[in-house]
Amino acid sequence: MAKIAVNDLPFTITITDTVPQTMNQYGAFIRSFSFTHNLNPLIKSPITDVPIMYKRFSLSTLAVIVLNATLLSALMSCSVNPVTGKQELAWVDENWERKIGEQHYSHQQQAGGGPYTIDPDLTLYVRSVGKKLAQYSKRSHLPYDFIVLNDSSPNAWALPGGKIAVNRGLLISLKDEAELAAVLAHEIVHADARHSAQSQEVGSLISVGQLAANVLLSNSGYSNKALQQGIAYTGLYGQTRYSRSRELEADLYGMQYMSAAGYNPEAAVSLQKTFVALSKGRQSDAFSALFASHPPSQSRVAANEQTAWSLKRGGERGKTRYQQEIKKLMDRKPAYDLSDKAKKAIGDKKYAEAIRLAEQAIKIEPKESEFYEVKGAAETKLNRSSVALKSFDQAIALNNQYYSPILRRGILRYELRSYESAERDLQASLLLAPTQIAYIKLGEIAEEKDLCAEANKYYQLAAKASPQNQQSLQQKLLALQARCR
Ligand SMILES: [Zn+2]
Repeated sequence: MAKIAVNDLPFTITITDTVPQTMNQYGAFIRSFSFTHNLNPLIKSPITDVPIMYKRFSLSTLAVIVLNATLLSALMSCSVNPVTGKQELAWVDENWERKIGEQHYSHQQQAGGGPYTIDPDLTLYVRSVGKKLAQYSKRSHLPYDFIVLNDSSPNAWALPGGKIAVNRGLLISLKDEAELAAVLAHEIVHADARHSAQSQEVGSLISVGQLAANVLLSNSGYSNKALQQGIAYTGLYGQTRYSRSRELEADLYGMQYMSAAGYNPEAAVSLQKTFVALSKGRQSDAFSALFASHPPSQSRVAANEQTAWSLKRGGERGKTRYQQEIKKLMDRKPAYDLSDKAKKAIGDKKYAEAIRLAEQAIKIEPKESEFYEVKGAAETKLNRSSVALKSFDQAIALNNQYYSPILRRGILRYELRSYESAERDLQASLLLAPTQIAYIKLGEIAEEKDLCAEANKYYQLAAKASPQNQQSLQQKLLALQARCR
């Protein structure tokens, strides 16, 4: 008998009649399951006849698939939606929402480029606009927070419980403060109306999060996919694909919140028109993440036009103020464009060109950590270890709150056999974001030091961190067992 609590879901699954050998092959032996709802232990159900085809999935993935396929409807109870006032099926309470928001907020930020630390005033500004709007939400007591992330892709997301992020890449695409208010109010409604916690989205949330976890965060060849494994688990909320009706709901109530806060709701119409045009045009690639989670459409434009008519005329657009607030960001845009090109060059294995582009970016903005990290990544590929280490040192000196340069330096130090300092970096990166690769490297360092139990612990953690590399990890564990007998 084995028990498993599925990632953040309020269920415990008990697996009986199994012959557990290795975690990976559980599925091959499974005859029956039962599950318990953690918040309501009275809800229980057995599941039988699980097909053998699942045998290659890890236990947690298997449990999620089973949940996905058969359980959800049995678990829901009827409640009133806090925003719409409609009766609906819901399976979570506010405590769960708050807990999920708190738990995932910082990892989700790390997975999305990290907080935009170079311009703290910009985050303060976005937060002030968001807080103003949140006062008019139906659940204004939620612990709302707003943050700007250091990522060029135009995207925004909301976690349950009111944790909301917007990428700098979206900020530069907006014309005025009212458009920013439209984006933030829309995200506020997703949290306020429990959209990601509702039945329809649960399926996409789980399957996207679990099965495509590692695809989500890949960003050309620059992002070492392995770097993000594990942390990728937390990518799921940012990638929640909302249904059409949820999008319309978020637009409708978001425009009401905007209007109540004194903004011109017409901004939600102009913004949606821009997105529809972009989704048809050449620039849609850059917007694909945003459009995947919040699909734009002509029907949303029409609905927003109607909503704008029904709300009071006028209100602020705040164009001058917005342009002032994002001026520094606009000034740095050429540097970020160069850095994005450098990342692409690394993906295309043009390392010398990547270094040249990163150096140009550094000339424009010598205080941006990311540019040194990109330079260091390219130098690492050319085996210029000592200059790469210096680049990572500079990146970390400028921003020690982002896992990626710390992890890269840790891996490089491991490869240079500087185990003590590698270990420090890997541990520091794990505090910011749990990645499979950091656990694997720590396991390998422990093996070098003949610390069998510690190596075993890290490989186990690595296996739990991501569904990837399960086979090679099982091999490592078996080899370790044989060696340490
Ligand atoms: Zn949306």
